[in-house]
Amino acid sequence: MSTGRSRSSTSSPSDERAGAAQTGRYARSVADDVPASALAVYAHPDDAEISAGGTLARWAEQGTQVWTLITARGDKGTSDPDADLEALAELRVEETAKAVALLGFAGHFHLGYPDGELPDDQSLRGAIVRHVRELRPEVVLCPDPTAVFFGDGYFNHHDHRVTGWATLDAVAPAAGSPHYFPEHLREGLATHEVRAVYLSGTLEPNCWIDIAPTLERKIDALYCHASQLRDTGDWFRDFMRERSETAGAPVAGVRYAEAFRRLTLGG
Ligand SMILES: [Zn+2]
Repeated sequence: MSTGRSRSSTSSPSDERAGAAQTGRYARSVADDVPASALAVYAHPDDAEISAGGTLARWAEQGTQVWTLITARGDKGTSDPDADLEALAELRVEETAKAVALLGFAGHFHLGYPDGELPDDQSLRGAIVRHVRELRPEVVLCPDPTAVFFGDGYFNHHDHRVTGWATLDAVAPAAGSPHYFPEHLREGLATHEVRAVYLSGTLEPNCWIDIAPTLERKIDALYCHASQLRDTGDWFRDFMRERSETAGAPVAGVRYAEAFRRLTLGG
């Protein structure tokens, strides 16, 4: 999320997820497989936590190596016209470090693009491919870039859409092909095939992860991003519980969930 406002206005995606599931248009499943490693590629410093923090924390406590790759700086995540944007960008890296430590992740990386100026170009794709080839994750998570309009009150942020498309293009075919970014291979990196992609913030979910064991820790991690909270009262904890409950509602036996569109690659 880029601002406190956008955070508080994202309840509609959950409603959309619930609606899609109830129509029966998609194969539904509660997933319990745990990958050996996962790379979460998101736009702003708190996006990975808010989109998939419960899932990533569950996996991490079961042994998954989890990294986040943040494409934008989060430097415009303030409504104060006099804010020091450089200082905010630095603060947001520190907040990310606290959240990542709390969730048990292996590390976090930042590409440092200014908020709102993320280009869907070879430079961005190459940077993501490089991280995929270096870290060699079994699965990759990112925003669903096709999800643009949510209900009648929210449309997806430019940085989320661009990060989603660039990550998909980086995963396949680029990371697995020696003919994309061959300079990486000359530097000693090898191609890498990602097994599955989990798209969050999707209108077409087919996979729910039960996050009951880690929901409170996910929320604690979001409190680490203090610069993005207008107040630190319990309203946000209640909001996140409610939102997670809505996401899990269509799947029997799961009270709190994160929903994804999961793509299994390579057959
Ligand atoms: Zn964001």
